[in-house]
Amino acid sequence: MNSPAFLPFARPDITEAEIDAVARAMRSGWVTTGPETKAFEQEFAAYLGGGVHAIAVNSATAGLHLALEAIGIGPGDEVIAPTLTFTATVEVARYLGADAVLVDVDPVTLNIDPAKIEAAITPRTKAILPVHYGGVACDMAAIFAIAGRHGLKVVEDAAHALPTTTNGALVGQLPSAAAVFSFYANKTMTTGEGGMVVTKDEALAARMKVMRLHGISRDAFDRFTSTTPAWYYEIVAPGFKYNMTDMAGALGRVQLQRLPGFVQRRQQLAARYLAELQDLPLTLPAAAPAGDAHAWHLFVPRLSDAASVTRDEVIQALADAGIGTSVHYVPLHRQPYWRDRYALVPEQFPVAERAYQHMFSIPLFTAMTDEEQSRVIAALRACVR
Ligand SMILES: *Cc1c(COP(=O)(O)O)cnc(C)c1O
Repeated sequence: MNSPAFLPFARPDITEAEIDAVARAMRSGWVTTGPETKAFEQEFAAYLGGGVHAIAVNSATAGLHLALEAIGIGPGDEVIAPTLTFTATVEVARYLGADAVLVDVDPVTLNIDPAKIEAAITPRTKAILPVHYGGVACDMAAIFAIAGRHGLKVVEDAAHALPTTTNGALVGQLPSAAAVFSFYANKTMTTGEGGMVVTKDEALAARMKVMRLHGISRDAFDRFTSTTPAWYYEIVAPGFKYNMTDMAGALGRVQLQRLPGFVQRRQQLAARYLAELQDLPLTLPAAAPAGDAHAWHLFVPRLSDAASVTRDEVIQALADAGIGTSVHYVPLHRQPYWRDRYALVPEQFPVAERAYQHMFSIPLFTAMTDEEQSRVIAALRACVR
């Protein structure tokens, strides 16, 4: 008996082109931040358009830390973020001595609920950190209006949002202080580990570039290519070590070229799930508003009230069928660190709490075949009732 191979929840889409690009970087003799990373930044900025500055980093977490540091977040400040996110969104506020104020999400999109933001603002609030959950944009018009009224900065956690649009504008192009993309292994494109911070603000870009590399006022690559003596540099702050390697940059350049194909494949896979799961007792993920792009980083069905199985039973049935799943996310208000630090209880987050009890993420990645997707659909149809 041949049972089909285990279908993981996600798998990176790496071809010989990526392998060649990484080998080229390794053979070039320049393996740290250099020409590949620089070209990747330029190409990423060109992809977004509008003259944004793109700053490559070794993770989105690093990028979020740089962005909050650059906008001046410090001890005693508060930042507002959704509870239904990865801890990276808010742990960076703690690095800077600031506090995270977690709020509930919208029941349709599972994105941060603007009304909850407004209610959470205090005199200490400095920034709002929206997360474009799964790849569908937050209500950015409402968020910018609140930020404007209260003098708050907006830093977007855009880890799921490559590419996502809202009212026709790409995330990365919006009037926030910064947006941070992730190239972690399971994201819509990968550099193994890596991220990109984008901003339209020249001063913020300059600060983040300096803080990315030890607070050195020129990066290592410039030191070896400009006319001032190569040995001379100045330390202007106690910076971090967040620069991207040239192997990662080379990998990212190929993935970025392939992104339009990735987008198309993710849309196809999502459209098929939406069509073929629609008669089951599931709340399927919300599509983007007409004319806008959903990045479809995640596909997260939720069991509806009519379902007679539990979320854990569905996950077990899929595992028994050799199919990997995940849960995005155990809400932060349930995580010991955040729960205990802020004395959070589930009753404060009824929407996220309910979604969490009923949600599961199913495989959606560009390297999966139609046959593999058929297996997921068949397994769900066999167990969700
Ligand atoms: C993946 C992810 C991050 C962190 O990205 P890294 O590149 O792994 O640091 C942050 N926020 C969200 C919502 C993510 O999904």
